[in-house]
Amino acid sequence: MSPSTILDPSSAIEVLNKDYKRDGLDARTLLDSEKHGGLTYNDFLVLPGYIGFAASDVKLESKITKRISLNLPLVSSPMDTVTETDMAIHMALLGGVGFIHHNCSAEEQAEMVRKVKRYENGFILDPVVMSPTNTVADVRKVKEEQGFAGIPVTVDGKLHSKLVGIVTMRDIQFHPDNSSPLSEVMTSENLITAPKGVTLAEANEILRQSKKGKLPIVDEQGNLTALLSRSDLMKNLHFPLASKVPHSKQLLCGAAIGTRPDDKERLKKLVEAGLDVVIMDSSQGNSMYQIEMLRWIKTTFPNLDVIAGNVVTREQAANLIANGADGLRIGMGSGSACITQEVMAVGRPQATAIFSICQFAKRFGVPCIADGGIQNVGHIVKAIALGASTVMMGGLLAGTTESPGQYFLSSEGKLVKAYRGMGSIDAMESQKSSNNAATGRYFSEGDKIRVAQGVSGSVLDRGSVTKFVPYLQAGIQHSLQDIGVTSVELLQKGVSEGTVRFEIRTVSAQAEGNVHGLHEFNKKLYA
Ligand code: GDP
Ligand code: GDP
Ligand code: GDP
Ligand code: 5GP
Repeated sequence: MSPSTILDPSSAIEVLNKDYKRDGLDARTLLDSEKHGGLTYNDFLVLPGYIGFAASDVKLESKITKRISLNLPLVSSPMDTVTETDMAIHMALLGGVGFIHHNCSAEEQAEMVRKVKRYENGFILDPVVMSPTNTVADVRKVKEEQGFAGIPVTVDGKLHSKLVGIVTMRDIQFHPDNSSPLSEVMTSENLITAPKGVTLAEANEILRQSKKGKLPIVDEQGNLTALLSRSDLMKNLHFPLASKVPHSKQLLCGAAIGTRPDDKERLKKLVEAGLDVVIMDSSQGNSMYQIEMLRWIKTTFPNLDVIAGNVVTREQAANLIANGADGLRIGMGSGSACITQEVMAVGRPQATAIFSICQFAKRFGVPCIADGGIQNVGHIVKAIALGASTVMMGGLLAGTTESPGQYFLSSEGKLVKAYRGMGSIDAMESQKSSNNAATGRYFSEGDKIRVAQGVSGSVLDRGSVTKFVPYLQAGIQHSLQDIGVTSVELLQKGVSEGTVRFEIRTVSAQAEGNVHGLHEFNKKLYA
């Protein structure tokens, strides 16, 4: 064949397959550190594939641990400027999960977990119940402290006793006397109830028809066994991707602990509060402390999923997998508020770390979280392409309404929120002043001289996660559409089989890929 011969265009695909090897690099060649050094997200691109479906058809379901799947592979970091109750509730409603930080007392952390678990329910199996002799003041107190006032009344104020009435906000709202007993204000006639054993769907239907706010569930003797709330039906309609525990329909909740002896007591409190998954929070997870803790958790709470880490090498990962980790957290020094690589001289470029560990962990069915350094949708997709099952974000979520703390004006007059590394002097000092057992993430808290591994600063306002996370979701779907795969699973399969291809980005290629040559521009990411 002479190169100057013009071929029949209809043979293009045949010629392609016969005469050429696939364009671009497979992941293994891309991430061969002997050839290219350690890479991170900005050092490469994914090559586009064939679009044969709509972006909205792309499924993002992925595992966070051996036993738990999420509809959206996004999680919020256990940092005190990122995840408390509000963030954890919204991350779970949107399909991800939040990990509540532990830079507070065990009781405070457990209370946050409890609030997430109580936020939404199918059958509420442990509802607050009162007796006819409780007072209006008691109901007002529950409303203030726990946020609801729909309370079933039984003869003796206990669950599994005879239901005699129900009291709701409407019954007490304008009631002048705080000391009146509930027997005077409750509704006791024509109570609509459902029999024990109804399915959630049937009970929801009764609730819809009754037009009441609550539906008590009773056994054959009329004893109260559970409660259903109309507002949960609404939440279920508004957040179809929500991460829920299958039976209770409660939101999934994660939390972090350290690896000190006190953390065992802390974990007991968190489990009592309903915790679903725990992360052992350590910047270098391959330690005797973590392995001891991991073994203890697996024997003490066999039903609790445990994520171990952080790790950046296969050797670290193997140790934790062998000791029972249900998931791994990958990243050392890639976080936006982190100075570990500079100060400790240890760490690893994130893309190389992810690929190296995920290839290995996959063989044992252990899902991995890519933690740190996520600045945009593209980074999320690259992390997942290299094998991460989920992606953890700190700085990217710290500027949202749902993160802890108030907005303030920066020195240039921009609206910002505080964001700090958990190994910053600031964060370590606050552990000391809050008098809680040091979180121990950086093994430096007990030392005479504290060596910082993070900085403290601020991040720009990003509005609510209820807009921002759906933007990330839509962005990931569009990206997978460009790559030509309809799910996270198929993306990872394509990468393993070498059908999803990559290209290294030189420094000038990176400059080309960013906005250039404009005098001024406005970078609005979504509308
Ligand atoms: P209420 O009308 O004042 O009772 O409040 P809503 O119905 O607006 O909100 C009740 C929310 O609290 C629902 O999401 C419930 O699942 C949740 N919740 C959690 N625990 C309880 C409980 O013990 N009793 C009630 N009534 N709601 C609970
Ligand atoms: P399935 O597995 O496809 O049957 O669906 P689900 O188990 O998610 O839901 C079963 C029924 O429970 C449906 O009627 C849902 O609308 C309803 N449901 C799901 N989540 C909640 C919730 O949080 N609260 C309430 N009250 N109902 C829910
Ligand atoms: P609210 O809107 O949050 O106050 O709650 P509901 O819509 O559940 O209750 C409105 C009123 O109806 C209150 O006076 C309740 O005591 C009463 N109520 C609640 N459930 C029932 C019921 O099953 N039957 C009757 N007859 N009244 C009820
Ligand atoms: P970001 O999403 O902001 O880039 O990174 C968040 C991640 O940075 C966290 O999940 C955690 O792993 C890591 N991190 C948080 N605080 C510190 C710190 O003070 N030092 C280091 N080395 N890493 C931190």
